[in-house]
Amino acid sequence: MTAPRSALVVGAGMAGLATAWYLQEAGVEVTVVDRRGVAAGASWGNAGWLSPALTVPLPEPGALRLGLRTLFSPTSPLYVPPRADARLARFLLSFGRNCTSRRWQVAMSAFAALNRGALTAYDELARGGVAEPTRASDPCLIAFTTQAGRTPFVEELEAVRAAGQRVDFDLLTGTEARDLEPTLSERIDAAVRLHGQRHLNPGAYVAALADSVRDRGGKIVTGREVTRIRDIGTGIAARSADGTEVRADVAVLAAGAWLDRLAAPFGVRAPVQSGRGYSFLLPREGLPSRPTYFAAQRVVCTPAGDRVRVAGMMEFTGPDRPADPRRVRAIVDAARPLLPAADFGRRTDAWVGPRPCTADGLPLVGPTRSPRVHVCGGHGIWGIALGPLSGRLLAESIVTGRPAAELTPLHPLR
Ligand SMILES: Cc1cc2nc3c(=O)[nH]c(=O)nc-3n(C[C@H](O)[C@H](O)[C@H](O)COP(=O)(O)OP(=O)(O)OC[C@H]3O[C@@H](n4cnc5c(N)ncnc54)[C@H](O)[C@@H]3O)c2cc1C
Repeated sequence: MTAPRSALVVGAGMAGLATAWYLQEAGVEVTVVDRRGVAAGASWGNAGWLSPALTVPLPEPGALRLGLRTLFSPTSPLYVPPRADARLARFLLSFGRNCTSRRWQVAMSAFAALNRGALTAYDELARGGVAEPTRASDPCLIAFTTQAGRTPFVEELEAVRAAGQRVDFDLLTGTEARDLEPTLSERIDAAVRLHGQRHLNPGAYVAALADSVRDRGGKIVTGREVTRIRDIGTGIAARSADGTEVRADVAVLAAGAWLDRLAAPFGVRAPVQSGRGYSFLLPREGLPSRPTYFAAQRVVCTPAGDRVRVAGMMEFTGPDRPADPRRVRAIVDAARPLLPAADFGRRTDAWVGPRPCTADGLPLVGPTRSPRVHVCGGHGIWGIALGPLSGRLLAESIVTGRPAAELTPLHPLR
C-alpha cells in the first residue's frame, strides 16, 4: 500500500488524538470523530501519572490474590458485579490465567521497551506546540501502613529494574515520609520515595492536544458515533449513527473501552473490558502536595491546579452504566484514616471513566486483518503514560508500512 494521505480516527481520547497528531507530523490529513467529545471516556478525570517505573502489566500474581479476597465486595478496591455475564466471566478467566510470574515477566519486557520512550514522546508533543505542561513528580510517594505491606511493591520495582528499566527509589520510615509530606497520618509506617516520574492534569492536557491537532489543520467532529467501518478496497468508509458516511485512506480505531464492536469485524479477538475508576477533586488543605499513592488501598492523590484529584477503584462493568456512588464512598472510607486533615465533605467534580483493559495486560496497537484499519487502544491502567508513544509508533508504522519492533507484542491480532 502507498502511504495514506488521509486518516479517520475514531475516538478523541489520549490514544486517538496522539495518533492523529503524529499522523499529522507525517503530512497525513486527519479527521477525529468522537461519539461525545474530547476526552469523554477514560482520558478526563484519571490520576495523570506518567510514571515509567510503575507502568507494568496489570495481571500479576498479587492481583489474583487481592481479587479472590475481595472480588464481590462493593467497597473493595476491585469490584465485579455478582451477576457477571458470560463475556465478563470469560475475560476474568483469561485475566486470571495471565496472573503468573512468568507471563508477567514476558509482558513486562514489552512494557520496558515502551517505557524507555514514553516521556520522550511527551517532550516531542511539547516541542510541537501542545500547550499544557507535564510536571516533574520529584519525588512521588508510595505510602504503606506496614513495612510488610511495602515488601511486594519493592520486589516489583526490583523486577522492573531487572527488565532493563532505570528505577530510582529509596525507602522511608513512616516518620521520614511525614517529614516530607506532613498530611500523612500516624498510620503510615513505611514509604517508597520514587524519583524521575512526572504527572499532568489529564483533562486539560488532552484538550490542549486536541487544540494542537486542530491548529495543525485536523478536523475534530464531536457528538457522532461511528457504528461500522468498511474496507472499500481503495480506502475505508465509516458509517455513523446519524446516517453520515466519512471516507479516508485509512482508519484508526481508538475507541477506548468501546473498541470491540468496531474492531471485531477486522479479526481483533482480544476483548477490551471496561475497568471503571472513579475520582473527585478536593481543596489542597490536608492533602499531599506531591503525587502520592496508597498502594494497598489503591487510592491515588495527584495535584491538579489549586486542588488535588483523588482517584481509585477498579469496577469491571459496562462503560455506559450509571456511576455507583458506593464506589466514591469506598475511596473516601479508604483514604480518610490516612489523611486525617482532609475534608472529604468538600469534594466536587465526581467522575467515572472506563479503563480499556485487556486480559493479558498488553495494549492493542497495530494493524488488523485489513491493511487499511489499525487499532490504538487497550492500554488499561496506563493509557496516559503510554498513549503518546503508542500514537507515535502506530503513526510511523502506518506511514512507512514498517511496524516498529516495540509493537510486535502489542499486535491486535494476537
Ligand atoms: C481512575 C483512573 C485513574 C487512572 N490513572 C491513570 C494514570 O495515572 N496514568 C495513566 O497512564 N493512565 C491512567 N488511567 C488509565 C487511562 O485513563 C486510560 O488508559 C486512557 O485514558 C485510555 O485512553 P483511550 O484514548 O484509549 O480511551 P478513552 O479516553 O476512553 O477514549 C475513547 C474515546 O472513544 C470515543 N468512542 C467510543 N466509541 C466510539 C464510537 N463508536 N464512535 C465515536 N467515538 C467513540 C469515546 O467517547 C472516548 O472519548 C486511569 C484511569 C482511571 C479510570
